[in-house]
Amino acid sequence: MVWPAIIIGLLILIWAVSLGKMHFGLGLNSKAGFLNDDRTAGGHSKKNVLLVVAHPDDETMFFSPAINYLTSRAHNLHILCLSTGNADGIGNVRKEELYLAAAVLKIPCQHVKVVDHPDLQDGFGKVWTTDLLVAIIEQEIHSKAIDLIITFDNYGVSGHCNHCDVQRGVRKLLQNTSLQVEAWELVSTNIMRKYSGPLDIWLSMLLAGRCVDGQMHCVLNESPYKSYQAMAQHKSQWIWFRKLFVSFSSYTYVNTLKRMKI
Ligand SMILES: [Zn+2]
Repeated sequence: MVWPAIIIGLLILIWAVSLGKMHFGLGLNSKAGFLNDDRTAGGHSKKNVLLVVAHPDDETMFFSPAINYLTSRAHNLHILCLSTGNADGIGNVRKEELYLAAAVLKIPCQHVKVVDHPDLQDGFGKVWTTDLLVAIIEQEIHSKAIDLIITFDNYGVSGHCNHCDVQRGVRKLLQNTSLQVEAWELVSTNIMRKYSGPLDIWLSMLLAGRCVDGQMHCVLNESPYKSYQAMAQHKSQWIWFRKLFVSFSSYTYVNTLKRMKI
């Protein structure tokens, strides 16, 4: 009975040290060199960033480290949510919840756009047409003068088909556009890392640090509690297992962003 107690004690200690690292920035700092790259926006210090997600709550459950990083540095962050999340018939409720969560995350409601299109409905087995996604995302890039896109990678954290379709849409857009915009995708991790909470920050920093060509960056969440508060605004989704998910998911604490290859 001694060893399990020692292991649990060690895990609690590392958990606490990890939270301290995020809060106080001990030693290594969060890196997001993609925002300092002069190839975007002609070298302007503040970027217009578009976060492209599939459903209300994706922004908080998966991308809040990047969101908190961007808003704390006064970048202009916009959210494009490509469905209302109407799988259970409560799309209008979920749309309003997204605005409330955005307010907690310091994103103005006029920077949040939720698409309600008959061909972009929430659910497994609902294939989203890539060309339609390209048209919608491209229009948003034009209207908001977007420099940089953040979205899912080709596994989409959970393998949800809507998440994967969003990545395909962004990728196809970049392949066929002359726009000066770059895209960064959220790196999906295996299930062990996914549910390791803040413990994963160390491995994420190590892996991103080994990528010397600047194509991968690790962003730590400076305010995990704010992420928790934002997720609580998604009241229709705020049930016990999502509370556990937000607490134990590494995506609450760290985002590894990789430059999308086209
Ligand atoms: Zn989703």
